[in-house]
Amino acid sequence: MDWKSLHKIDAHVHILPEEKRQGFVQYQGEESTWAKAELSRYIGLMDEYNVVTAILQPTNDFHMYYTARETNEYLAEIVHRYPNRFVAFADLNANGAYVLDEAPYELEYAVKELGLHGLKIHPSNLCMDPDDLRFIPVLRKAAELNIPVMYHSNPCMTGFHENCAPGKLNRMIKVFPDIQFITAHMGGMKYLDAWSGCTWVDISFVLPEFVEFFGVEQTRRILCMFGAERLIFGTDYPTRDYELYCSLLDQMDFSAEER
Ligand SMILES: [Zn+2]
Repeated sequence: MDWKSLHKIDAHVHILPEEKRQGFVQYQGEESTWAKAELSRYIGLMDEYNVVTAILQPTNDFHMYYTARETNEYLAEIVHRYPNRFVAFADLNANGAYVLDEAPYELEYAVKELGLHGLKIHPSNLCMDPDDLRFIPVLRKAAELNIPVMYHSNPCMTGFHENCAPGKLNRMIKVFPDIQFITAHMGGMKYLDAWSGCTWVDISFVLPEFVEFFGVEQTRRILCMFGAERLIFGTDYPTRDYELYCSLLDQMDFSAEER
């Protein structure tokens, strides 16, 4: 069975609030990357590519979304409108002491009242390292709520994105054995550090870069090094599309069970 027909869960999808999406339409055009982050368009793609469920991920970014509370309410609205198709991780803000005092409270509200399912931490957008001690209260809350935590991890912009390096995230993975951490983007080109972290990784955004860099066969070996049981399918839609992801994965001869 090819990857298009395979029933999938995409663990890393971004849909933007319409007014925010309109900003991208206005300045970058209707066919620009982030202009595609529109709900009905995306649902059409889910049907076409057999994506049964998508996990909506916020970006800890006021430019694309809102405050954590408003973003979580926006995501919850989609989840409740399409309960069988969408799951959402909660947003987080970092304005001063907010992370220490309000983030655990907001997370509990997002999970218990709004019905969200996990926590997304984007160290680069927050300008905080993954192992910043200010994350400890909200991580303790995540452990208490028994929800997974996804960290953005793709240190790719020289000198500016080093603060999402998977080696730093590994410290939190060691400190919180009671949290299911997901290292997004396989830790980028620092994938060996993500590998040594011994928890989950998603293959979103970076898979085409890996294939361009290493070729299909070596990329397949890297994926097999993690092992199918640690890999989570994800695209980072709208930054990557299903046609490309399916065509690349089709070239790797995974067994039916691994798929
Ligand atoms: Zn993303």
